[in-house]
Amino acid sequence: MSETSPRFVSRLTRDTLALILAGGRGARLHELTQRRTKPAVPFGGKFRIVDFPLSNCVNSGIRRIGVLTQYKAHSLILHIQKGWGFLRGEFGEFVELWPAQQRVTETAWYTGTADAVFQNLDIISNHDPAYILVLAGDHVYKMDYGAMIAHHVESGADMTVGCIEVDAARARDFGVMRVDAAGRVCAFVEKPAQPPTIPGRDDLALASMGIYVFNRDLLFDALVRDADTEGSAHDFGKDLIPLLVAGSRVMAYPFRDPLTGEQSYWRDVGTLDAFWEANLELIGVTPPLNLYDNSWPIWTYQEQLPPAKFVFDEDDRRGMAVDSMVSGGCIVSGAMVRHSLVFSSVRVNSYASVTDSVLLPNVQIGRHCRVRRAIVDRWCTLEEGARIGYDPDADRAAGYRVTASGITLVTPDMLGQQVGRV
Ligand code: ATP
Repeated sequence: MSETSPRFVSRLTRDTLALILAGGRGARLHELTQRRTKPAVPFGGKFRIVDFPLSNCVNSGIRRIGVLTQYKAHSLILHIQKGWGFLRGEFGEFVELWPAQQRVTETAWYTGTADAVFQNLDIISNHDPAYILVLAGDHVYKMDYGAMIAHHVESGADMTVGCIEVDAARARDFGVMRVDAAGRVCAFVEKPAQPPTIPGRDDLALASMGIYVFNRDLLFDALVRDADTEGSAHDFGKDLIPLLVAGSRVMAYPFRDPLTGEQSYWRDVGTLDAFWEANLELIGVTPPLNLYDNSWPIWTYQEQLPPAKFVFDEDDRRGMAVDSMVSGGCIVSGAMVRHSLVFSSVRVNSYASVTDSVLLPNVQIGRHCRVRRAIVDRWCTLEEGARIGYDPDADRAAGYRVTASGITLVTPDMLGQQVGRV
C-alpha cells in the first residue's frame, strides 16, 4: 500500500490512542477559571475549548480518546458525558474521562502533564496502540492529525512535535525549539525567558503547539525513566521532551495549510485579552477560523433551545444585533448589540447597548445598561443602568478585573451573585 494513500493514513489513525490533557487551571485567565478548568471555558458562542481537540480527533478518524482531568473538572465532566457519548463502542470507539485517582501511589495527584500520562500507563497498555497522540486540551484550531501521524511515520521519528511560528516577544509563554535543515528538533526549552529565534528571523520563534505523537514503546520507556528522576517536575515540556531531544529522533511538524503552504490558524486563548480577541475574530466576513465549514464540524453538547429572537419592546424600540454572532435561546428586546459574541440563553433588555463584548451563556443585561469591551461570565445579571468598559478606574473600584489593554471581566462572584452550572 502506498504510504500516502488514504488507507495508509486511516490504518495509522485507527492504531492511535489520543490523550487530551485537561487537568490544568489556566491561571492566566484569572477569575474565568476560578470555578472551571480552562478546557471547559466556553468559546465561540456554543462550544467549550476542549471541543476543538476532541472534534479534531473524531474528524481525523481517531476515535479512541482519554481525557485526563484534575482541577475543577465538574463542568468539563458533565459536558463530555452529555455531549460526547455518540461514538460507537461496538467499533471500539470511545471518549473516556480519566480523572486523577491516585492509581500509582495513594498519595499523589497528577503532579505534571507527563505524570498524568504515567499514572494511566496500565489503561493505555490495555488499549495496545502503536502511536499515542498527546494533546493540550486548551487550544483552539482545526487540524487533521492523520497528516501529522503520517509525517511522523514517514520521517522515521520516535516522537513528533506540532509547531507554529510565533512572535519572538510572545514566545516565552510556550515551549520553544530549534530545528535542523531536515526538521529534526535539536533543542527544546519550556517557557524560556530568552526564547531562541529562527535563524535569519530575529522576530520569530518556533513554538510547540502542545501536540505530540509518540511511538508507544518510546513513550513508556521515557515516562518510566522520568518517574524515577529526582528533581523532575514530570512535565512534557520541562522534562520529557528535552530528555528525548538529547537521545532520540524528535521531529518537528509545522502546522501549515497543505494547499497554500501558509501557517494555519491556532490560538492559545490563555489570557483574557487573547480570549476576548479570539472570540470576536470569529465574527468577520472571512474569519481566520471558519466555524461554518461543514467538512470539519466542531462537535459539542447543545441544549435544546428555541431560536434567538430580536423584538420590538413595549415602546416600539427595536431589538437588534449587527456584526455579531448570537446563539440559541437569546432574546434581544429594544436593545442594540454591536460587534459582539453572544452565547446561548442571554437576555438583553430595553435601552441597553452591548458593543465589542463577549457575553457567556445565561447572562442577563438589564435595561439601560451599557457594556463595552467586556467579557461577562456565565450567570451574571447586570442590574439596570450598569456601565461596564467605559471607565477602567470605576470598573476596578467596582471589583471587576481590567486587563492592561482595557478589557473588563465581570463574573458572578464579583457581583456577589449565585452561579448555576459553570
Ligand atoms: P497556563 O495556561 O496558565 O500556563 P495550564 O496549567 O493550564 O496553565 P499548561 O501547563 O501549558 O497550562 O498545560 C498544558 C495542558 O495540560 C493544558 O491543557 C492543561 O489543562 C493540561 N494540564 C496541566 N497540568 C495538568 C495535570 N497535572 N494533569 C493533567 N493535565 C494537565
